[in-house]
Amino acid sequence: MNTAKTIKKSYKFRIYPTKAQTKTLEMTLDLCRELYNAALQERRDAWKLERKSISLYDQQNQLPKIKKIREDLNSVYSQVLREPLRSLDNAFSSFFSRVKKGEKAGFPRFKSQNRFNSFCYPQSGFDLVENNLKLSKIGKIKIKLSRNIVGKIKTCTIKREIDKWFVFFVVETKGEPLPKTGKEIGLDVGLENFVTLSDGMQINNSRYLETAQKQLRKAQRRVSRRKKGSHGRRKAVLQVKKIHQKIRNQRADFQHKLSTNLIKNYDLIAIEKLNIRGMSKGIFSKQINDVAWSNFFNMLRYKAESADKKLVEVNPNGTSQICICGERVEKDLSIRVHHCQKCGLKENRDIVSAKVILERALGQSVKTQT
Ligand SMILES: [Zn+2]
Repeated sequence: MNTAKTIKKSYKFRIYPTKAQTKTLEMTLDLCRELYNAALQERRDAWKLERKSISLYDQQNQLPKIKKIREDLNSVYSQVLREPLRSLDNAFSSFFSRVKKGEKAGFPRFKSQNRFNSFCYPQSGFDLVENNLKLSKIGKIKIKLSRNIVGKIKTCTIKREIDKWFVFFVVETKGEPLPKTGKEIGLDVGLENFVTLSDGMQINNSRYLETAQKQLRKAQRRVSRRKKGSHGRRKAVLQVKKIHQKIRNQRADFQHKLSTNLIKNYDLIAIEKLNIRGMSKGIFSKQINDVAWSNFFNMLRYKAESADKKLVEVNPNGTSQICICGERVEKDLSIRVHHCQKCGLKENRDIVSAKVILERALGQSVKTQT
C-alpha cells in the first residue's frame, strides 16, 4: 500500500563561485534589490498621491519597457527579475491582512544591501550538470552536493550568507512513511528546557548556546574598541555576523536532529498551539525562543506529513495550571513542582504540562480552561 502524499522538501547546498562569478551574483542581487525598492517607491507614491493601489500584474507588465531603457537589466534572467516584484506583492498582502485583523503591522520597507541576500529562479533557467550548478545569465558554478536530491526540483534560490554562497532547491517529492511504533508523546516548551517530554525527558540546548554567547560577547567588545570606519572595525563586525550565523546553523542542526528523532519514535506528537500574536512582547530571551519554537514546530509539521505521522496542536490555555486528573493546580512560574492535592501527583511542573498536552491531544479527560 502506498498512500504517500506529494510533499515539498527543501535542500541547501554550498556553491563555490569564482571571483568573476561572485561579482555577477552580487550584481544580480543589486539589480533585484533596486527593482524591489523602485517598485515599493511606486506603490507608496501611488498611494500617497492618488490613493491608488498598484498590482503585481501592473508592475510585471512594465518590465519590458523598463528593460528597454535600462539595458543592464537584460543581464538578469527574466524570471529572476520578476521575483522581487512578487515578493514585494507578498509583503503587501501580509501587511494588509495584518491591518485587517487589527494587528500591529509595519508598512513594507526599503531594503538595504544587508537585508537583500537572495534571488530566485522560480521554474527554469537552472540545471545541475555533474558537479556544477548551471545558472542562466551567470554560468556554471561549482556545487557540493552533500546529499542526494529525491524528487523534481521546482525552484532554485541563490543566497548569500555573509561571505558564503548557497543554493536552496525546493523539491516536490512523495512522502516517505515511517514504520509505526504505537507510541505517543506530549511536548512542553519552556525557558528552562527547550522541550520537556511527557515521558519525563528534558532536552536542553543551552550548552552550545552558552559557548557561542561567550564568543559573541567577546566579539562585540572588540567592535566597540575599534574606531568607527576603520578597517579593524569592519573586520570585527564581520566576525560578529559570522558568530550569529554559526548560532543559527547550530540551532537549526539541533532542531533537525531532535525533530527527526521524535518523528521516528512516535506515531503521534502533541504540542501546544503557539500564540503568535503574543510573540512580539515579553522579555528578550523569550522572543528568541518564540522564534526557535515556531521553527522547530514547522520542522515537526513537515516531517510528520512526510512520514505519515500525526502532529496534534492543542489549545494552550491553562496547560500549566491543571493536573492530569483534571484538578486545577495553580502555581506561578517560581514554583517548579506540581503537587496535586486531589490525586497526590507530585512531579516537575513541565513534565506534568507535557502530559496534559498529550492527554488533550488524545481527547481525554483534561478539560480546556478558558
Ligand atoms: Zn491530580
